[in-house]
Amino acid sequence: MSHAPETITKARDLVTQISARTTPARVRVLAVLLEAQRPLSHLDVLTTLHPAIDRVTVYRVLDWLTEQHLAHKLSGDDRVWRFAVAPAPHHHAHFQCENCGRFFCLENVSSDLPVSLPAHFMARMVEITVKGICADCR
Ligand SMILES: [Zn+2]
Ligand SMILES: [Zn+2]
Repeated sequence: MSHAPETITKARDLVTQISARTTPARVRVLAVLLEAQRPLSHLDVLTTLHPAIDRVTVYRVLDWLTEQHLAHKLSGDDRVWRFAVAPAPHHHAHFQCENCGRFFCLENVSSDLPVSLPAHFMARMVEITVKGICADCR
């Protein structure tokens, strides 16, 4: 998949906004996430990149994007991390299609802590995943 020039520009702007160095790998991996509009695994990103970027670099860039809050990551039942652009600085839930296995970000669902924790417990993150069948699979 080749990127639309606006996607590359947007990716470069996002990296520049956090005062980080814009390397081709950072810009191109972020462009893949911007275009996908849904969480992608490392393998998904690798197979989308043409020309290819080596797998270790892609891992590093995905982790870096997550640390910089330009992306967020979630894990599925398969223990595979998936990465998506950070849509907004709030928590949200995800939808996993049980047929095709794809994940989607549900931005209008609150993932505020739905339970109260015992005394002196501290929540670090909340993951809410709704499972079902996506529109393409119905
Ligand atoms: Zn599906
Ligand atoms: Zn998400």
